[in-house]
Amino acid sequence: MSQLAMQHQALNVGQGFPGFEIDMHLASLVEKHLRAGKNQYAPMPGVIELREQIATKISKLYKTNINPQSEITITAGATQAIFTAVSALIHSGDEVILFAPAYDCYEPAIRLQGALPIWVELKYPEYNIPWATVKAAITSKTKMIIINSPHNPTGKIWSADDMKELEIISEENDLLIISDEVYEHITFDDQKHESIFLYPKLAARSIGVFSFGKTFHATGWKVGYAVASVEIMQEFRKVHQYNVFSVNTPVQYALAEYLMNEEHYQKLPAFYQKLRDNFIDKMSGSNWLFQPAQGAYFQILNYSRISDLPDIDFAKHLVEIHKIATIPVSVFYPFGSEQKLLRICFAKEEATMDRAAEILLNIVPK
Ligand code: PMP
Repeated sequence: MSQLAMQHQALNVGQGFPGFEIDMHLASLVEKHLRAGKNQYAPMPGVIELREQIATKISKLYKTNINPQSEITITAGATQAIFTAVSALIHSGDEVILFAPAYDCYEPAIRLQGALPIWVELKYPEYNIPWATVKAAITSKTKMIIINSPHNPTGKIWSADDMKELEIISEENDLLIISDEVYEHITFDDQKHESIFLYPKLAARSIGVFSFGKTFHATGWKVGYAVASVEIMQEFRKVHQYNVFSVNTPVQYALAEYLMNEEHYQKLPAFYQKLRDNFIDKMSGSNWLFQPAQGAYFQILNYSRISDLPDIDFAKHLVEIHKIATIPVSVFYPFGSEQKLLRICFAKEEATMDRAAEILLNIVPK
């Protein structure tokens, strides 16, 4: 879609990256550490100053003590953390439960291990977790469940009840969890992010995955981290050592210093809520139907009142004729989807989102 958007010089509110600059203070910290000679390999698990700051942040936010030496590893983005976690813990013949729609990097990692993804569908528009279906999907081969909250592409946030259900099921069936929490700081309407680390029994059997790219508008840096118990982290590092070894040194030092100021991530929910509210205010009362996203920076729009085209065809039509790029939601389903849904990324300047709303509101039903 982004390639098509470029070809047609369309406004790109499809691809999920922030349209804002990083804080120039963070940029100057990277420069400072580059100039100070922090340019050789970092230790395999990451620069200790950064891991210490992460442990402090987790203890403040999620009230649990994480050992920065043995329970945190800095990764080349969340994608590498997920791939490494799956490679370390999943083997041929294992089954892994996933929820559809899903971010695209989970399934290939599972298949590459010779394991089987078992899909549980979340139903539009609430995308609630169908716990009876999850229980029915568990077999003697089930090894892991991958969860993602706040969720890409739906913006759904898991509730405390969901986390308790997950705790019971994973205890009963001795399952591992990968908890993809890259949007941990982007929640709306005072809803709380239910991190895996708020639940000690769950935390003991989980790898939590995080990304500085999402939090600091720096997706191109590809720096994130994985957090897990000593036993799980030992396995994780056995793979990490040989597929990455270590991650960009000056950026790690800069992030360590930058994280001392909590203000940056504390301001994120309000920052994104303003953008979401502005966009949905503009779209309200139109032919586009939606439930406001609960978190992350994506809004699902339903175009069933506007067109009967399948979503991929409709998204192409929007780029070619109306010069706006969105993402058809069927691409987040392994088995496709007949639903008339598009994903909009509202992590863009307000003027860009105003222009997006203007274009969308001018598209009339056939
Ligand atoms: N998980 C989810 C749910 C995402 O949306 C993304 C990025 N789009 C990632 C993981 C990957 O993050 P990173 O860029 O840090 O690899």
